Amino acid sequence: MYPVGFAAATTWTWMIFMVGPSYAAQRPLAQWVPQGTLRNVPVRTDCKMTRHSVGVSLQPTLFYPYGAIFLCPERQREIDSLRPGASRFFLVHEYGHLALRTREEAVADRWAAKQLAMVPSEMGTLRAVLFYFVDEGTFFDPLYGTGFDRALRVARAAGIGEKEWPLPLVAYAKAQERRKANGTTMRLRLHDAYTNAAQMIIWIDGQPVGVLSNVDGEKLLQLPRLVPGQHLIQAYQVWLYHSEPSGMKSEVARRLQAECELTSTGRKLVVLNLRYNGPDGDILSIRADEVR
Ligand SMILES: [Zn+2]
Repeated sequence: MYPVGFAAATTWTWMIFMVGPSYAAQRPLAQWVPQGTLRNVPVRTDCKMTRHSVGVSLQPTLFYPYGAIFLCPERQREIDSLRPGASRFFLVHEYGHLALRTREEAVADRWAAKQLAMVPSEMGTLRAVLFYFVDEGTFFDPLYGTGFDRALRVARAAGIGEKEWPLPLVAYAKAQERRKANGTTMRLRLHDAYTNAAQMIIWIDGQPVGVLSNVDGEKLLQLPRLVPGQHLIQAYQVWLYHSEPSGMKSEVARRLQAECELTSTGRKLVVLNLRYNGPDGDILSIRADEVR
């Protein structure tokens, strides 16, 4: 683990030059650089910290008052050898977690895509990572979705037109639209005036499905087709928050889990009701209702 002092100094220089879009346009090599207090975030290389994934960020602590980003150069090289330049996206993604103080991968992905889209010279990074995610295809991680999900998210957030998408992504987007029109969705409902935001990974019948959350805007979760009958719904890694109208949020509880049964009759919307009797008991309970 060591500080990347040289890289940081280079970054500073570029930042000073990037005073406006017209000036940035005259300097086609200007890369994306962090703005505001994100400039104070130390970026370190440490594959142990990242657990051999490409990057990880730590939210501010006493030791790291602005948070910190750790990168794994081995993984960066691997990613760049497959799709040259793609690894930069993952650095910006980590800044996204810190800029928005969010744990959500989809939110950090969108932030990174929008940030990179504002810098003309980063179009190469965006295209590279788009292809990298398409290469991952249907590989699924409940926190991120599939490679296709990430590609779609990046393409849309960055405003990359469908004409520029790899063909398998166009096909995936069409299939997803059909799923949305015909499939079942899950919506979150909380029953406590104070604990008004939550995020969790949903499993159905022993299979991870994805993230259900209303923390950074409500997100409905697309479910696989539920055949009529009994289903086991499990919520893992449940984090609870109190969210102010200003968007400020404070954590209420973390790493809870709960499960319930759902008797499906094949209707299209499942509401997951969540109740929390904290903090003494840390008791979380969920109930799933099909509503239409
Ligand atoms: Zn992330």
